[in-house]
Amino acid sequence: MAIELMELPYEQNALEPIISKETIEYHYGKHHKNYVDTANRLLKDSNFDDDALLIDIIKNSDGALFNNAAQVFNHNFYWLSLNPEPIAIPPKLNKLINRDFGSMENFKNEFEDKALSLFGSGWVWLELDVKEKLIITQRGNADNPLIHLHTPLLTIDVWEHAYYIDYRNDRKKYFEELWRLIDWKFVASNIVDYYHDLTEPCMENSQLCDYIDMLQHLNEPTT
Ligand code: MN
Repeated sequence: MAIELMELPYEQNALEPIISKETIEYHYGKHHKNYVDTANRLLKDSNFDDDALLIDIIKNSDGALFNNAAQVFNHNFYWLSLNPEPIAIPPKLNKLINRDFGSMENFKNEFEDKALSLFGSGWVWLELDVKEKLIITQRGNADNPLIHLHTPLLTIDVWEHAYYIDYRNDRKKYFEELWRLIDWKFVASNIVDYYHDLTEPCMENSQLCDYIDMLQHLNEPTT
């Protein structure tokens, strides 16, 4: 199965006025689509099976194929990190943020600082490192937490194509506005999806285990 262009979980004008329909038309319809098309073209001449998963391609490729496949993953993750409806931060995720950054305000400040000081094109990520600590990383070009064995929780695109139509060169303004669109429920759900499928035991004294348990129960049918 070829790599597919994901469907956006909202209408192309749903993020206005923070992200315009015109930005989505270019960013999703041209840039993101081009990464999908290029990755599929390169896959044909690679050793990967037709049914290889995107994550496995990213973990086991380099050069142009890695760059294009990782950009597909990163963009999928970015679109899912945003939501036109305001989503409150789950209390336990808030607690983890307070634990590792001191406060939500510190977390946002560090995130914005890292976005503004990232030279050139790339991504700012909230990740869980291998010691279960939340960290904010600057990752250049198509770099991705999965290849560093970290768990991706949230990403913001810092390539100029993400904000130039709406904010021109004002990357700071783009970031300040974007907080209103973050889907905190998606961020929290990634702790379960990527970090623990509960086939692995929790680390000893893991503060995350209760949280993961809670998220899993939230997803159970209530009837
Ligand atoms: Mn982009």
